[in-house]
Amino acid sequence: MAIYEPAKEQMPRELLEQLQVERLQTTLNRVYRNVAFYRQSFDERGIDVRDVKEIASLRQLPFTTKEDLRASYPYDMFAVPLRDIVRIHSTSGTTGKPIGVGYTQNDLDHWATLIARVLTGCGIDERDFVQIAFHNLATGTFGFHAGAERLKASVIPASIPDLHEQLRMMRDYRTTALVCTPTYALRIALALEDSEISPHELNLAVGLFGGEPWSDDLRAELEERLHIKAYDNFGLSEIMGPGVSGECEVREGLHINEDHFLVEVIDPITTEPMPPGKAGELVFTTLTKEGFPLIRYRTGDLAALLPGACACGRTFARMSRVSGRCDDLVICGETKFFPARVEEILLQAEGVEPHGELYVQREGATDSMELHVELDPAVPRLDEIKTLERIKRQLAEGIERAIGISPRVVFVEHGTLVRSAGKRNVVVHDKRTR
Ligand code: ZN
Repeated sequence: MAIYEPAKEQMPRELLEQLQVERLQTTLNRVYRNVAFYRQSFDERGIDVRDVKEIASLRQLPFTTKEDLRASYPYDMFAVPLRDIVRIHSTSGTTGKPIGVGYTQNDLDHWATLIARVLTGCGIDERDFVQIAFHNLATGTFGFHAGAERLKASVIPASIPDLHEQLRMMRDYRTTALVCTPTYALRIALALEDSEISPHELNLAVGLFGGEPWSDDLRAELEERLHIKAYDNFGLSEIMGPGVSGECEVREGLHINEDHFLVEVIDPITTEPMPPGKAGELVFTTLTKEGFPLIRYRTGDLAALLPGACACGRTFARMSRVSGRCDDLVICGETKFFPARVEEILLQAEGVEPHGELYVQREGATDSMELHVELDPAVPRLDEIKTLERIKRQLAEGIERAIGISPRVVFVEHGTLVRSAGKRNVVVHDKRTR
């Protein structure tokens, strides 16, 4: 199994940590000198960046949030003079103000190298034909393009909406690797089924999918339909784009490019560090970024750091696949929880369908919750009132054990609740006036 930069990716952990500390100090000096946001934030807290002499000291530093980035739009977070910026990527602000991220030439060089590492981890080399099918202007397009060229593979830019055109290019150019989002890969796979092109006419061997959380079920489906081995990779525009981490051929977690990024996993509610193996919010500190360095950036993505060494020989830490976002956090009175916990209880509960709607209400100064669920039609109608009471009680108790608060359970008519096609089986309605 090839490794693109063995001297880095197989670095002994002690040396890696030494390198990380040096790069962290450089980064902290850079942001303190050049970014008013950080200078002010450190000064307010009495933090002297020269005191940061080990990775553990990172925890004294404040977090950076997406809100901070929005507030600094367009240039306030840039850490070099604008004449040194050679690329600006703007994220479309679907939920608010946009975020603008700047890259120096060194940043772009590093980006290409890190993508070359990720591609090599999936077995791609200079003999491959890499079809890159992200939507126009997605940062992934630019990162993968440069990284595949760095590897001397043949790049086929394919940011085109037409699925049949996508398949035709794939067949004619004998594409061996497909790079896109998992959702788009599924659309390509479904189009293949309706097309006159047979999967056997294609030379596809590998798929690199990222940009959104996806499941092992979808992985199995894509592998079967497209006759490929499918790999996960992770990144986000604020940090760099793709190339932050990627699966190796072992596919037991994504190796984080730790010589360029420091990773932490925190409890999104208490912000305390999570133990290895336990999922929490991913937090990254950039170690080499010049244009747009970030300190302890809260990504909102949920994943765990995996303990132990990987069979591939890389020494870089591995993260689990991203399982979701922590934007969904619900705060009800003193209790904070993720709807996913309620979903788990509904899945295990007897007598009810595995989806529900949760209403959070406020009366006076007290918050309460009401959970609407549908009865499983198979529930025996014998001794109905007693049975229903028992189901209600068990469900409320199960939820209280899981999240610390007991909702009022209401049965609604079968077929009336929202059945989301996506990942959410419990829809939350916040009825409180703020
Ligand atoms: Zn590995």
